[in-house]
Amino acid sequence: MSPDADLSKSSLSKTSLSESSLSESSLSTTEQRLLRRAIELSAQARANGNLPFGALLADAEGRVLLEAETTGKTGGNVLYHAETNLMHEAMSALTPEERAAGTLYSSCEPCPMCAGTIYWGGVDRVVFGLGERRLYEIASGQSGVPVACFGGCRLILQGGARDIEVLGPCLEDEAAAPHEGCWTDWQA
Ligand SMILES: [Zn+2]
Repeated sequence: MSPDADLSKSSLSKTSLSESSLSESSLSTTEQRLLRRAIELSAQARANGNLPFGALLADAEGRVLLEAETTGKTGGNVLYHAETNLMHEAMSALTPEERAAGTLYSSCEPCPMCAGTIYWGGVDRVVFGLGERRLYEIASGQSGVPVACFGGCRLILQGGARDIEVLGPCLEDEAAAPHEGCWTDWQA
């Protein structure tokens, strides 16, 4: 390893985990499997005629409790994001204790609305794939118009009164794949 590489590694560690740049090596095998399932759900959302976003809620043993995908286009409501759809389901299907003990896996970094539903719905752990910044670059690059970039989900998830663990971006190349070519007709 060159001295420069060593320096960059050391400066990366100083930025702390909450600054993101986490790799898949930060996740256990079970967590990687669950995040890949959320990415599969994002590809499924695209196949179903929507933008490619998927999310699931798993319990502490890694069992999938609920799954959801974005349904904005087919449902005629731009608020039907994957994580918000998931959290509405979780509010009626799970107890507060089950939500608090669960981990929400999302193919992409939650937007402010979804981060709000995760916060108020009482989920205390989030793992996401594609980071907001990279989504912005992909979507704006394909569409030629700016796509919203809010500064990251940690602003909301870790700006409240509870301690919420957030891991991501992780498996970013895999999470980016379903977005290939699907933002060309996006209008802000
Ligand atoms: Zn959202």
